[in-house]
Amino acid sequence: MALDPVLPWHADAWSQVMSQQQHDRLAHAYLINGLPGSGRYQFARTLAARLLCTDPPATSAQAPTCGRCRQCLLFDTGNHPDVLDITPEEGKSSIKIAQIRMISSAVNQTSNQSGAIKVIIIRPAEALGVAAANSLLKNLEEPPGRTLFLLISEPATQMLATIRSRCQPLPLPPATTEQGLAWLTEHSAASQDDLQAALMLAAGAPLQALALLEAGIPAWRNIVQEQLDEMAAGRLTPVDVAKYCQAQPLNYAIQLMQGLALQRARRHLLAHQPEAGKAFLQLGRELLQINRQLESGANPNPLMALEHIFSAWHATSGDRDVTHGHDNGPVRRGPDG
Ligand SMILES: [Zn+2]
Repeated sequence: MALDPVLPWHADAWSQVMSQQQHDRLAHAYLINGLPGSGRYQFARTLAARLLCTDPPATSAQAPTCGRCRQCLLFDTGNHPDVLDITPEEGKSSIKIAQIRMISSAVNQTSNQSGAIKVIIIRPAEALGVAAANSLLKNLEEPPGRTLFLLISEPATQMLATIRSRCQPLPLPPATTEQGLAWLTEHSAASQDDLQAALMLAAGAPLQALALLEAGIPAWRNIVQEQLDEMAAGRLTPVDVAKYCQAQPLNYAIQLMQGLALQRARRHLLAHQPEAGKAFLQLGRELLQINRQLESGANPNPLMALEHIFSAWHATSGDRDVTHGHDNGPVRRGPDG
């Protein structure tokens, strides 16, 4: 089976690496830097498969591999002996030093096919503790034989300087909203409303958005919006809504409410209700701040944070407009979805 084409928002980074390869100037280690859920791992795997394929097509971005040669068939099994995928073991947050030692023995063995490349994917690179990183340094410095290291990391994280300095940076830009929506439309049968909602909740990362769609998040989002209506009508309390939202990661609710606050603000400002508009803008800013704190590692009690958010929403809504139904898109969907 041939691999999926390179993701459109990765096209430039891909052609940069392909050009390096053509000129025999591939780095031996890349630090692939991009947002989680934007396809960083897919990029690394596609690159590994491309380099292993013995009959690679000329149009590399559209068809990265031939899908038929022995290497491609091996890659398809998910268990190619020349690809090592190093990631924290289940339930663990860091990569063990023993996993790094496995790299050493793997790269020192002769390749599965003479002259072939070995690809070591390490994800996320942030999961390398000091000891594991130190153990990796020698291999990064003088990789034996033809070895390519692909370290996957997030923007703005603190990477050990010793690791960073031994890798060529390969930043992957995020998808634009248009690229994200076009890609999601190809990969999901969900409505445009749901695609947009999922993309918003995933902070613009299309692969993450697809995972949210598959996990039923847009349906969850619709239920939260219905609950806000119920809260406005006095049939639910902020605590009730908070309890419902607790089932999903805290940042989903925050991003949803942030989007809704901005929509409300816009609606009030357009209706020449500046006071209400400003109040929702202020709420949106407060939510943005909570989200930033979460991103920088704050770990509040989720239920208390949610109660605070829905109480603030309730107070801001006050008796402003309680009967306008949903804030986004069609108020009620017809039977055709
Ligand atoms: Zn092939």
